Amino acid sequence: MSKTLFEKIIAREIPADIVYEDDLVCAFRDINPQAPTHVLIIPKKPIPRIAEARPEDHKILGHLLIKAAEVADRLGLRQSGYRLVLNNGPHAGEAVPHLHCHLLGGRPMTWPPG
Ligand code: 5GP
Repeated sequence: MSKTLFEKIIAREIPADIVYEDDLVCAFRDINPQAPTHVLIIPKKPIPRIAEARPEDHKILGHLLIKAAEVADRLGLRQSGYRLVLNNGPHAGEAVPHLHCHLLGGRPMTWPPG
C-alpha cells in the first residue's frame, strides 16, 4: 500500500518542522497554521482515523495525548490554554487519512467550532 503524506513526513521523504519525536509518535508544525501555534501529533502506526483505532492501540493513543500536552507545555501554552482536535470523516473536515491530533494555541478560540 502507498504511504500516506504523514508517513512520508515520518520517513523524512517530505520536509516538516518536527518539534517532537519518539518511537510511537511524531509532532510537527502544520503547513497551514490556523493559530499562532498549530502542531499535528501523529502516531507512527498509520491508523487512518480514530474510528479505525482498535483496543490494542490504547497504549499509542494514550501516549499521543500525554505527548500532546507535553509539547503544548514546551511551546509555552500551559497557562494560556490550547485546544486538541481530532477530525474524523467528511463532516469534520478530515483531509489526511492518517490519524492526527491538532494542537492549536496562542489565541482565544470560540466554541462551538463552525
Ligand atoms: P485534517 O483536516 O485532516 O484534520 O488536517 C490535515 C492537516 O494537515 C491540515 O491542517 C493541513 O494544513 C495539514 N497538512 C496538509 N499537508 C501538509 C504537509 O505537507 N505538511 C504539513 N506540515 N502539514 C500538512
